[in-house]
Amino acid sequence: MSENIISLNHVSFTYSESKVPAVQDVSFNVKKGEWFTILGHNGSGKSTITRLINGLLWSDENDADSIIVDGDPLNEQNLWKIRDKVGIVFQNPDNQFVGATVADDVAFGLENRGVPREQMLSIVDKAIQEVGMSDYKTAEPSNLSGGQKQRVAIAGILAVKPKILILDEATSMLDPRGHDEIISLVKKMKDKNDLTVISITHDINEIMLADHVLILNDGKAIAQGTPKDVFKNEKLIDSIGLEEPFIFKLIKKLIKAGIEIPENVDSQEKLVEILC
Ligand code: ADP
Repeated sequence: MSENIISLNHVSFTYSESKVPAVQDVSFNVKKGEWFTILGHNGSGKSTITRLINGLLWSDENDADSIIVDGDPLNEQNLWKIRDKVGIVFQNPDNQFVGATVADDVAFGLENRGVPREQMLSIVDKAIQEVGMSDYKTAEPSNLSGGQKQRVAIAGILAVKPKILILDEATSMLDPRGHDEIISLVKKMKDKNDLTVISITHDINEIMLADHVLILNDGKAIAQGTPKDVFKNEKLIDSIGLEEPFIFKLIKKLIKAGIEIPENVDSQEKLVEILC
């Protein structure tokens, strides 16, 4: 897990309608196979970064090799090659559907790439099965629940075999059950398909899934590292009004109450293991 699959080097972006940069001199590396979380308040620049990574937004402010995806600099020549490698699940599932049925929708990306019909049908079947939606192949996407819609969106992305899956607040419109369903599905798909996951969120507790966290504030990267490292800097976290994840708060309370908690305990599972 050491090779960088995405590198941003001093990337900035200002929307033409705006005078203030949405993203300012941001640098980070995402390692192959990791779960990388970008956390920040609304308006901190998270979505802009997502769109810069797959070339939906482009700026001449940056050097030619300021965004590297899977070894290639993001430029006009590599744009489609890179887009093929980066799948994005957006916040509102209703805005992502193009097919009249679940199967049509999942087939869309493959049709666009000219995959022969027989092969396409088999890939579509498999992708729908992988996300647990086989009973809904002929259903209209608009009649599905929020969680089911996101499953279909994920199937459509998996069908074209990306290397990177970006969740752009993909669970923020779901109820807690839908949220948990999608997160555990993505975890499973990540391991099965050797994916790198970038999760954009303002859900503080979701960062506990991350190998690496980047905190954005007003378009600037103000902290990065493991969740534990990032939240060690209480002053910084306080200064931008972020709350600590529940598990870290709990560990601090337990230590204060005289319960010994080893340094390496940084997850609910590990905490339960040592307490029970
Ligand atoms: P986040 O995803 O963290 O909520 P965004 O990347 O959407 O943040 O927005 C970053 C900044 O850029 C905000 O100040 C926002 O108002 C501004 N912004 C976003 N989209 C546009 C746009 N299309 N035109 C002008 N400004 C925009």
